[in-house]
Amino acid sequence: MSMIMKISHDQEKQVYVKEKQQFNHFSHRHPLELSQLHQEDKAVCSGCEHDILGPAYICTKPNCNFLLHDLCFDLPRRLRHRSHSNHPLLLRFSPPYSDGEYTCDACGESGHGFTYHCDACKFDLHVECASLPETESREDHGHPLILLWDFPGKIDGADFVCYVCDEPVGKGCWMYSCLGCKFGTHLECVGNIHHINAEK
Ligand SMILES: [Zn+2]
Ligand SMILES: [Zn+2]
Ligand SMILES: [Zn+2]
Ligand SMILES: [Zn+2]
Ligand SMILES: [Zn+2]
Ligand SMILES: [Zn+2]
Repeated sequence: MSMIMKISHDQEKQVYVKEKQQFNHFSHRHPLELSQLHQEDKAVCSGCEHDILGPAYICTKPNCNFLLHDLCFDLPRRLRHRSHSNHPLLLRFSPPYSDGEYTCDACGESGHGFTYHCDACKFDLHVECASLPETESREDHGHPLILLWDFPGKIDGADFVCYVCDEPVGKGCWMYSCLGCKFGTHLECVGNIHHINAEK
């Protein structure tokens, strides 16, 4: 009895479930199984390259280390992002460059896993950078912080220093900013606490 039942009618997401709860994902040629990962597993997602704790789709082949967050499993294959409004971005499973690496146009860091990619422009976004909220708020600032992607032209063209970590924000990198107050943070710093005089 090897019944295969289609459980999703979404054409983008061809998810099939067998008796043993195996799932196929368009990024990988082996079937995956859903299980729980713990701190001691020290597992890293093959899509977003971040640690995985909790539910994960894991390759069923013993020598294959492919695994995905449940959220990364469900990523849309095609995305419209306001930072790149002329073209849709397509989810690529590995960087389409000969050195196997891309540079994210949002945070300026490299990536080796999934990328939202525009082939015409060689534009790339980490999957987590593609899903950043357009506004953030901080307890220590009364105004909302807006996600800016055409920085630094908007703020005096000068090097902008992150309010949280006091390090400069790289040219061309996105940031969270209150334009009125000329106040901004790195993408990864917006949720962190500003330590004034951390050392005594
Ligand atoms: Zn992931
Ligand atoms: Zn595999
Ligand atoms: Zn990024
Ligand atoms: Zn483009
Ligand atoms: Zn910072
Ligand atoms: Zn402000």
